[in-house]
Amino acid sequence: MSSTGSSSIHRISDLHAARQAGDRPVISFEFFTPKTEAGDVKLMEVTMPALLELAPDYVSVTYGAGGTTRTKTLTLVDAIQKQFDLTTMAHLTCVGHTRDEIAAILDEAKALGIRNILALRGDPPAGESEFSKPEGGFEFSYQLVDFIRKHGGDFCIGTAGFPEGHLACADGKLADWGYLKQKVDAGADFVLTQLFFDNADFFAFRDHMVNELGVTVPICPGILPILSSKQITRFTQLCGARMPMALQTRLEDLADDDAGATAFGIEYATRQCEELIREGVPGLHLYSLNKAHSVSAILGNLGLDHR
Ligand SMILES: Cc1cc2nc3c(=O)[nH]c(=O)nc-3n(C[C@H](O)[C@H](O)[C@H](O)COP(=O)(O)OP(=O)(O)OC[C@H]3O[C@@H](n4cnc5c(N)ncnc54)[C@H](O)[C@@H]3O)c2cc1C
Repeated sequence: MSSTGSSSIHRISDLHAARQAGDRPVISFEFFTPKTEAGDVKLMEVTMPALLELAPDYVSVTYGAGGTTRTKTLTLVDAIQKQFDLTTMAHLTCVGHTRDEIAAILDEAKALGIRNILALRGDPPAGESEFSKPEGGFEFSYQLVDFIRKHGGDFCIGTAGFPEGHLACADGKLADWGYLKQKVDAGADFVLTQLFFDNADFFAFRDHMVNELGVTVPICPGILPILSSKQITRFTQLCGARMPMALQTRLEDLADDDAGATAFGIEYATRQCEELIREGVPGLHLYSLNKAHSVSAILGNLGLDHR
């Protein structure tokens, strides 16, 4: 397997390529950049060591809405790679950045030994409901993918896929999936999806991408363990993910019982992952929400808590 810098820091496409039939899917966990110093300490001293027990293949760190976490994202990715010798991907968004700024971020990332970038358009800054193209920047993420690919640095590039179609795509999900193909054609090496609660949506999306559009890069489902009824209502409103009626009803029953909702969320995500694995997904991307408990329980239930 090829790698650069430390022997344990790999290009994610190489992790996928190295998987043999019957191996565990490529397991990744997503973190957001903590807002406080106490959050940083907890992530590095409590959550990360607990999650390392599960031998993830890589982890990823988000780029704050509105492009607010440039330094923080790169610093955290660098710290995780150096302290834990674990492949870590930096998310990067188009929001508020000129091409020159993006180029400088890529140069900085390369200098730090960061090998993997998730190229996104990004959520709009707080208080704004719609993305607006920055002066001198990019309108769509396929342009960012193309720019990263041409900029050099030999980055492995991930891109976002939306099993239910992207919320803002007025032309419907088939049009959105066509734009995903454009991102892959621009140079994306793999796809991580938005969270979803009905695997049928993922399978329809994957089948269309593979069979109709000829996409061959790994398409990895993103799974969110439900922590509470309130949390999941907020998330689904933000990203547009549909909740099947039975799930909605169950969560209404658990509206005042966060511990019960968390336990139910572990069970639900376990069942989702079991079916996804049976159907041959190449990876599982778990939205950890910077907590180890649910993710550990899900992988334990699946018997995937070790390599
Ligand atoms: C795994 C994952 C991680 C994420 N991490 C972050 C993060 O760290 N920070 C953050 O701010 N956000 C993050 N997001 C959210 C993401 O930035 C938003 O959902 C954003 O609105 C869309 O990003 P995109 O890269 O898919 O955009 P794009 O691919 O640019 O798509 C944006 C919209 O434009 C449409 N579109 C795309 N190409 C074209 C075209 N050529 N012509 C016309 N329309 C087009 C699409 O259908 C879509 O509606 C993440 C999402 C996922 C799935």
